[in-house]
Amino acid sequence: MSRLFQDTASPRLMNRECPRCFLVLNSEVIRKGIWKVEIDKCTSCSGIYLDKGELMTLTGNRPLHYLTTKHLGVDSDSELLCPSCGSLMDDEYAEGIEIDVCLQCNGVWLDKNELDQLKTVDPAKMESLSPEKLAELYDADQSVSSGGLLSWLFGR
Ligand SMILES: [Zn+2]
Ligand SMILES: [Zn+2]
Repeated sequence: MSRLFQDTASPRLMNRECPRCFLVLNSEVIRKGIWKVEIDKCTSCSGIYLDKGELMTLTGNRPLHYLTTKHLGVDSDSELLCPSCGSLMDDEYAEGIEIDVCLQCNGVWLDKNELDQLKTVDPAKMESLSPEKLAELYDADQSVSSGGLLSWLFGR
């Protein structure tokens, strides 16, 4: 008899798959100075998946790291699902470069060549958040504590 379902009892619960092509990602090691970062790469579209913190290691760009961790809003503008945990992802923009970030585990999906583009982004230019980003964070704040800033603005 053929088995209808895959054995899900294996230690690794699921293979990471490309959120665009749905092919299993290949692990690949990138060397950065003394660091070795193991990334997951799609052989079809050349997109890569980075676990939380790996983008920081590879680019050394701390504001970029904050953008994908601390300043993450609650909106989900991306149609992609996280290869690692299957949660919704959100589009973030760093100097016009689109990054898909997982709202759950803070993993990052980069399309082909985006890592190289991100390496050229000047951290100094990223210190201030864009008006769109501030609006999103403001909305997120509002959904948590309703009327916080508004009552501060109009309440005196
Ligand atoms: Zn792909
Ligand atoms: Zn995730």
